[in-house]
This record gives sequence, C-alpha cells and structure tokens, in this order.
Amino acid sequence: MLIVMKPGATASEIDAVVNIVETVGFRAHPMPGATRTAIGITGNEGPIDGRRFENLAGVAEVIRVTKPYKLVTLDLRPDKTVVRVDNATIGDDELGIIAGPCGIENRDQAFAIAKTVQQSGARFFRGCVWKPRTSPYTFQGLGDRGWEIMSAVREEFGLKIVTEAVEESHVDAIEKRGDVIQIGARNMQNFSLLKRAGRSRLPVLLKRGMAATLEEWLLAAEYIMAEGNYNVILCERGVRTFAQHTRNTLDLASVPAIRRISHLPVIVDPSHGTGTAYMVTPLARAGVAAGADGLMIEVHNQPELALSDSAQALTPSQYLQLVAEVRAIHDLVCCSHRPAGGLCANESNRPQAGGYNCDGMDLTPGSAEHAPADR
Ligand code: PEP
Ligand code: MN
Repeated sequence: MLIVMKPGATASEIDAVVNIVETVGFRAHPMPGATRTAIGITGNEGPIDGRRFENLAGVAEVIRVTKPYKLVTLDLRPDKTVVRVDNATIGDDELGIIAGPCGIENRDQAFAIAKTVQQSGARFFRGCVWKPRTSPYTFQGLGDRGWEIMSAVREEFGLKIVTEAVEESHVDAIEKRGDVIQIGARNMQNFSLLKRAGRSRLPVLLKRGMAATLEEWLLAAEYIMAEGNYNVILCERGVRTFAQHTRNTLDLASVPAIRRISHLPVIVDPSHGTGTAYMVTPLARAGVAAGADGLMIEVHNQPELALSDSAQALTPSQYLQLVAEVRAIHDLVCCSHRPAGGLCANESNRPQAGGYNCDGMDLTPGSAEHAPADR
C-alpha cells in the first residue's frame, strides 16, 4: 500500500499519517519527492484496508500496490534517487565512476592505482579486502590488513571507499572507516546480510546475482529498503548463460528495464560482465549509452601480476582512455535529458570535451528522450 500526500501537505500532516501507520502495526517509509511525499507501507503479509487512511489531513490518495516490490518503484518515488557521499554522487547528471583493483594486495599497489583513479576524476575507489572466491585455494583477500590499506587510501586521496561486505561483521568495519557497502553477486540473496546493510546509514551497492531475474534483484533491494536504508545503487554485472566467449553475459537491457520500474540508480560493471580486458571499454561505452548512471571498473598497475581477476583488469592508461570516452558518451546521453538551456552537472564542473555538441538534439519535454516511461 502506498499513501500519496497532497503536494501542499505539511510536515505535521505527514508525521500524523506515519504515526497512525505505525500504531496499527506497520512500518511507514515516507519518501519526499519534488512535488509530493508518498508513504510506502511494509510489514503486512496480506492486503491492508486502506480506507482508514483516506480521510486523514493532507492525504491525496491511497493506492494498493499489486507488484511484489513496493519501495523500489517509481510509484512511490517518481524522482530518481541520487545517492550522495558528501560531494560524490551516483544517480544525478554526473557519471559515477567507481574504479580500483579487484583485491587490495599491498600498499604500493593500492596507492599506485588510487593515484590513477584520482587523476581520472572518479570519486569512488573500489577494492575487496574480504574476497568471496569460488575456490578456497585462491587469494582470499588481505582481510583486516587490507582494510588498514583501504583506510589509508581514503585519507591520502580523499576518494570514497567502496568495498564488499562478505558477512555481517564486515558491515560494522565498513561503517567505521568506509563509505559504500558492496554486496556481491554471490550474496545477493543472503537475506541476513541484506537486512544488516538495510540497518546501516551507508549506501549499499547491490550487485545482480549471477542467475537473478530482474524481479529477484529488485526484491533484494527491497530487503535493504524495508529496513529503512533507501540509498541503494543497483549494479548490473552480467548473468550466467551458455556463452563461452565471456565470463558472464552482460545484460545491458536491464538498465532501461530498471529505469522503467525503479527510481534507484543503476550502474554497469563491464569488468566482471566480460572477464576480459579488451571487452571492458566497448561494453563500458555501451552501458553508458544505454543510460547507466555510472560504471564499476577494475584497474591494476600491473594486471599481469594481479592476485585475482588479472585477465579483466585494465592498465592505468587503458582506464584513463576509457574514462575520457565514456564521459563524452555520457555528455551526449545526459544532454538529451537536460532541460532546454540548462547545463548538466558535469558540464558545470569541468571543461567540455570537444568534437560534439548537443544543439541538434531535441530537448523538448515530451520528446522521445524525455518520455517518462524511460525514466
Ligand atoms: C567484485 O566486485 O570484485 C566481485 C567479486 O564482483 P561480483 O560480486 O560481481 O562477482
Ligand atoms: Mn573482481
């Protein structure tokens, strides 16, 4: 069930509705939007009789939600969610780039890569310190020693730290000295981990499970949001198919498909999505062209020596070239959505890349680029 408040509803009217929802035993999730606040209701196992809410002050309408997910949907929040960590964002007009090694291996490696990531203008540094590995005999991550290095990278470079919580206790550690909790493909349906991340104040980057449907993936996000954490970034990283030319099949159609259903930002990981360095840049370009809010890219100062995912790591120069290319593509995609005469956030922050302009594009609201169904 979803309670849509009138555009002019006051804070105390919203609080009163929240109070009543909670008094009758459900959980209320107020979502302020640009034009109105909607309040999602969870905690019910069957349908709720919504009529009790209909006459409350400030309520515009009560909508029965028939989809299995409630909080991830555009019905609840028609405006896109922008996930913010200080001045670093994912989901607004600036392309969000999360880059770094697969695993943190030593201080020199992490610092060399972080320097490249900083140079690229990316704001997020990734790297596993706890690694979920298929084989118990391969590099398992440095654990707490790696976490010390990650914290030093954060101090030294001012980059926001994204690292994977393989188990619940890792969330505690990330909360102390990290910025974004990654939940990996293998853990997409680890429900206790999802709930723990849902109780965190940090944003959660939720990778798609390697055999997950869109609905299962969105329901995993719903687990996090149902606990009160609405800062979820979805990450398409490919699914298992019969194809043998790639490590996974990168399902880029999920990007517009998610846009049509959800307000959550969605990024693409072409590194795990292909498993092979030469495919990473083409698929990164395609992901951005498909409308992704950002990318996750594995980069290594010496890919041939990497302790994990060596074949898919880009060299620093390949990575820097990728960033230049995807930004140019993003400016085109972004310009087609910006208000006429307005600047994209990324245009105001940095010099325009040359070689193209948006003057010929249709910026009229209601044009194909503006179709609300494509949000
Ligand atoms: C990773 O990001 O290093 C990782 C293990 O990814 P995934 O969960 O997508 O396999
Ligand atoms: Mn990896």
